[in-house]
Amino acid sequence: NSVFEHVVRGPEDPILGVTVAYNKDSSPLKLNLGVGAYRTEEGKPLVLNVVRRAEQMLVNDSSRVKEYLPIVGLADFNKLSAKLILGADSPAIQDNRVTTVQCLSGTGSLRVGGEFLARHYHQRTIYIPLPTWGNHPKVFTLAGLSVKTYRYYDPVTRGLNFQGLLEDLGSAPSGAIVLLHACAHNPTGVDPTPQQWEQIRQLMRSKALLPFFDSAYQGFASGNLDADAHSIRLFVADGGECIVAQSYAKNMGLYGERVGALSIVCKSADVASRVESQLKLVIRPMYSNPPIHGASIVATILKDKNMFQEWTIELKAMADRIINMRQQLFDALSTRGTPGDWSHIIKQIGMFTFTGLNSEQVAFMTKEYHIYMTSDGRISMAGLSSRTVPHLADAIHAAVT
Ligand code: PLP
Repeated sequence: NSVFEHVVRGPEDPILGVTVAYNKDSSPLKLNLGVGAYRTEEGKPLVLNVVRRAEQMLVNDSSRVKEYLPIVGLADFNKLSAKLILGADSPAIQDNRVTTVQCLSGTGSLRVGGEFLARHYHQRTIYIPLPTWGNHPKVFTLAGLSVKTYRYYDPVTRGLNFQGLLEDLGSAPSGAIVLLHACAHNPTGVDPTPQQWEQIRQLMRSKALLPFFDSAYQGFASGNLDADAHSIRLFVADGGECIVAQSYAKNMGLYGERVGALSIVCKSADVASRVESQLKLVIRPMYSNPPIHGASIVATILKDKNMFQEWTIELKAMADRIINMRQQLFDALSTRGTPGDWSHIIKQIGMFTFTGLNSEQVAFMTKEYHIYMTSDGRISMAGLSSRTVPHLADAIHAAVT
């Protein structure tokens, strides 16, 4: 008998499990709209040309070695990442009161930030939106924080429940941490307007609530890197403190390279340097130091004016294709006269559409049409193409009629 005989089988991850089911389906019609990864019109994964070029340069540079990075990662990468998210002219950067550490993509940045807060911040409660990316509650609970939710999405309007959000943050205890999606909220695709962001900022600052931004889609939502960082820069501009987790998975297509950054904007350079010393103590026993390849690709691109420019063009092309898929799906449902209001498909932004389809309708579409998505009715627009839109529209039409 195994000493592990008592181990019970764990459940499949609700998001990654969709791909497991998809892979088992032998139908030629099958369509995977579950996982949040970009696909071309041909349905293929995409490596950006500028990324290929950066990798070539790295390979050809024989002076490069495979030594360990420092605990906090690649120095250039950290500096450039802070500039990218906070803005090149950010006073917080000029004042040296931002500490940035390279982490294992967005997830790792959230985890390190969460663990730092659990050890050193006076409030251990983090408020996350309802709903949110399914990994958030797990990451923060394991980091040692206590997780509560605030109202975010209104299923009736398929838009923001702004009143509920203000009420819930208004009644949160002073000092509580609040997780905010910087843009392209996952899974709903619903973001506050700039005016609403300003109201959220005022409320949070008046109650000393600590903003923890999750930025997984900078540039991927609107096609513009600065526009997609607006919410974060609003909070940094008032001189207050905040935390930002950045991912390069989607916007540089570096998913499997696991490259991201955690920035903590502090009140002074002195505090920032002490915070960094404690971040190192979180990271060292967790994974010692981060991997070198992905961060070198990012630094190579961000450092070079031409490569940066090339990146923004490729990034905008990805964002535009997704926006175009929204329009095509909306038009296809209109043509079919599918009952209901589907305007949220073109109103929501980012990688996902929160369709409003319920779990029975999703199960129906999987069984009858071989279309795979999470059971909450979230579809990845990035997994769709002109060729597959009619099939999806037929399936949605059949599911709701
Ligand atoms: N945060 C949100 C809201 C996400 O949607 C994702 C990825 O889907 C992540 C963080 C983290 O992704 P990664 O760890 O691949 O950077």
